[in-house]
Amino acid sequence: LSEGNQAPPTGCSGRLLELKGNIRVLCRLRPAEGQPSSLVSVEPGQGGTITTCYRGRQHRFRLDWVFPQDASQEEVFRQLEPAVLSCLQGYSVCIFTYGQTGTGKTYSMEGPPEDPGIAPRALQLLFREMGTGGHHHVTLSMVEIYNEAVRDLLATGPPERLVVRQGPAGQGGIQVAGLTHWDVPNLETLHQMLSLGRSNRATAATVMNQHSSRSHALVTLTLRAASPPRAQGITGTLHLVDLAGSERVWKAGVASPVQRDPNGARRLREAQAINRSLLALGGVMAALRARRPHVPFRDSQLTRLLQPALCAGTTAVLLLQISTRAEDLGETICSLKFAERVGQVELGPARRRRAPRSGTPSSLSTDTPLTGTSCTP
Ligand code: ADP
Ligand code: MG
Repeated sequence: LSEGNQAPPTGCSGRLLELKGNIRVLCRLRPAEGQPSSLVSVEPGQGGTITTCYRGRQHRFRLDWVFPQDASQEEVFRQLEPAVLSCLQGYSVCIFTYGQTGTGKTYSMEGPPEDPGIAPRALQLLFREMGTGGHHHVTLSMVEIYNEAVRDLLATGPPERLVVRQGPAGQGGIQVAGLTHWDVPNLETLHQMLSLGRSNRATAATVMNQHSSRSHALVTLTLRAASPPRAQGITGTLHLVDLAGSERVWKAGVASPVQRDPNGARRLREAQAINRSLLALGGVMAALRARRPHVPFRDSQLTRLLQPALCAGTTAVLLLQISTRAEDLGETICSLKFAERVGQVELGPARRRRAPRSGTPSSLSTDTPLTGTSCTP
């Protein structure tokens, strides 16, 4: 295998991910309950559209790919397969889910055991492709960001707040002190670790109601070729990011008098932390899009951790999750506006790596500011 900047063969005609250019935006709709809404109409497929009618105004959004509302987990994964496979050839891939709470982000990313989502399917595919020859050295890390605190979901000791530091440029620009990177010899171990990480996220959920939708979760898998047939040292990375709900503060029920709600103060703090981090994500996307020399990755823990995943040469895919319910329409439009602008960010052609990437981002035009959660539909 030679190195260089050539795109890997996709071999997937009609599939979306050619591994070059912009951040790809895919849109999945929460399955409809009851009567489908007449306020949202969907044209699925490549370059599909979502048209909304809100307060007498029509908005039309075109995305790279729109899934039909009844799309299966398999159908969603099929679109991501080429990108996932490219990790084995030394590419860095980031798949992240964005949208309002309850729209199916975790369902798409994790899925129930009987109908697995992107993460288990991706890992299974990678291990199947790697075979049993031990040609790759695989490591896994899993963190959660809750109220701007970064926590190792795979730590063996008591939960500790991790410190994110600026690292040497050659290592993706950041270092997370104390984060464990586990060696993963096989798929079975990987599944065990993922469910451990998931349960560590979920343990908090019973204590802090709906905690998981108030936190961001990042899974990072690194695949380093250790022996032929792959070129030694070629390192691919897969980042899978399940973002916290993007709904605006007042929707989260925290605009109501905090005193009357015993959890109000906590919820307000959570919502503010999420808003800040998603706003920072919007700021990073805007800077990338406008090719500004300074990209404000340091504005939040989320953007710091995503820095290696959002730099030049990475293949990034945003899976936007939306609801078609009439009462969610405002949020749906905000999410679509965010996604449409993300779709204009160009990270440049996918580049293969020998080591984790450093990040001087390259990007595109237009200076309309991107907003995370401060949206007016
Ligand atoms: P989010 O992570 O965006 O807050 P969830 O993934 O937790 O949302 O989904 C909310 C609920 O909707 C869950 O009960 C989930 O099982 C269900 N759900 C979401 N998407 C689908 C889907 N495509 N098919 C079936 N159930 C779904
Ligand atoms: Mg969730």
